[in-house]
Amino acid sequence: MNYATIKYCDIANGPGVRTSLFVSGCTHRCPNCFNEIAWDFGYGQPFTPEVQQQILESCAPGYVTGLSLLGGEPMEPANQRALLPFVQAFKQQYPGKTVWCYSGYTYEQLTGAEPFRCRCEVTDELLALFDVLVDGRFEQELYDITLRFRGSSNQRLIDLPKTRAAGQVTLWQDKAVFSTHTMD
Ligand code: SF4
Repeated sequence: MNYATIKYCDIANGPGVRTSLFVSGCTHRCPNCFNEIAWDFGYGQPFTPEVQQQILESCAPGYVTGLSLLGGEPMEPANQRALLPFVQAFKQQYPGKTVWCYSGYTYEQLTGAEPFRCRCEVTDELLALFDVLVDGRFEQELYDITLRFRGSSNQRLIDLPKTRAAGQVTLWQDKAVFSTHTMD
């Protein structure tokens, strides 16, 4: 797998301060894609063990809340296979920190409720390591600048542990000050 960019101290792609990894390769081809250059699986730099170690080390400080995976498309099968051992290492090292994943595939497509090309032999194992899945393709006509951590209103911030426990899609709850735009 190749990656396009790593953003350290990112506050735009999940709560708190995070390290965000933008992987290469995406087959969605959304109109008005913000990152068309990353459609190419060969774009960017190889995701070497040294790069992975650098990311893990960046997450060590107490002020870093977690890791975010974006693209491109992290949930293309080829990228899932490369990400699984890395996310396993992250969770082993930082069990109290969160992993957010942004995917153009929906939860239903990824979990097999709607059979789709994104499902492969490691999908369930990888999803089990994520805390939040931001799902669905960016839709220009549903773009809303007031939305936190997502671009268009069709995209859902899914709390995966709660979803698994409830047996139905359960959305991640933001702090009231952000979800209502009112101070406590
Ligand atoms: S899923 Fe993201 S990277 Fe892929 S085409 Fe759509 S907007 Fe672009």
